[in-house]
Amino acid sequence: MIAPMNDTLNGFAGYTDRLLLPAWAEIVKITPEAENVTTYALKLLDPDIQQGYSWRPGQFNMLYVPGVGESAISMSTDVESSEGLVIHTIRHVGNVTKAFTHLKKGDVVGLRGPFGTSWPLDAIKGMDVVIACGGIGLPSLRGALYSIIRHRADYGKVVLLYGARTPKDLMYQAEYETWKMADVDVQLSVDRGDDTWDGRIGVMPMFFYHFRIDPRKTAIMSCGPEIMMRFVIYEALARRIPSEHIYVSLERNMKCGQGFCGHCQLGPYFICKDGPVFSFDRLESFINVEEF
Ligand SMILES: Cc1cc2nc3c(=O)[nH]c(=O)nc-3n(C[C@H](O)[C@H](O)[C@H](O)COP(=O)(O)OP(=O)(O)OC[C@H]3O[C@@H](n4cnc5c(N)ncnc54)[C@H](O)[C@@H]3O)c2cc1C
Repeated sequence: MIAPMNDTLNGFAGYTDRLLLPAWAEIVKITPEAENVTTYALKLLDPDIQQGYSWRPGQFNMLYVPGVGESAISMSTDVESSEGLVIHTIRHVGNVTKAFTHLKKGDVVGLRGPFGTSWPLDAIKGMDVVIACGGIGLPSLRGALYSIIRHRADYGKVVLLYGARTPKDLMYQAEYETWKMADVDVQLSVDRGDDTWDGRIGVMPMFFYHFRIDPRKTAIMSCGPEIMMRFVIYEALARRIPSEHIYVSLERNMKCGQGFCGHCQLGPYFICKDGPVFSFDRLESFINVEEF
């Protein structure tokens, strides 16, 4: 078992201290999700910190593998369905995220957070909702989706457009039926098919043409590779959805998580603090969707 270097760190009860120093959390469950993607359920070791710990879908933690480093990772479910656990889905791409593959149940990691803004689940009540995501963007939106499902009557039509590179990269496959049963129109696509796949092939934003959108009452929430989100924004604007109803979660290389270090600055914003979730009207001057 990897043990925390200093157990007393968990003694900090203050919120600010917790954002600067990691709280320690035990890995209680590991679920392989798709090729190279794993979900980790974490239990905060300090009961006081666990008691006071809450987050909103779209927010993220800085997860720390002792001796390796920290990475920004979204909570991949919402508070109400998490049963006291903090759940993260991680794609293993580099130093920190690959170090997670060597961890096992019972190991301990550091956690700072929650950080950032969340999906606007209250502001979009009464509207039709299009959740448009690709790749590792789905975990950030999965909590929002569960919150919408729990309060399903508060929303109109709900469409999930989810694209992955190949069928093997599709995450949370066991949950799609539950989502459909909750009256979510689940529309999957892959960039490249295989022998098992008889669904749609092509990049996800192409499939905006397959359903009707009423621009007066539709909100879009999008997370995934930036090029994908640019196309989603483009398709949404082309359908006259107002930019203040288009929400995106931006990904930048983050360090402090609190707007001190400046690593994630975009124009006047620190993505870690003012984002990662923004309505597009705030970003229009900084992200030109017509440039591609
Ligand atoms: C708000 C937010 C939420 C995120 N949520 C998740 C999530 O739920 N699951 C998940 O798997 N990943 C998520 N990420 C991405 C994750 O933070 C990076 O993949 C991770 O930091 C890579 O760290 P590493 O040490 O494994 O890779 P490194 O060894 O640091 O880098 C590997 C490569 O990725 C690049 N890179 C590193 N970090 C980022 C970054 N943040 N954006 C773009 N390129 C980067 C490096 O320049 C390098 O080319 C999120 C990022 C942000 C900002």
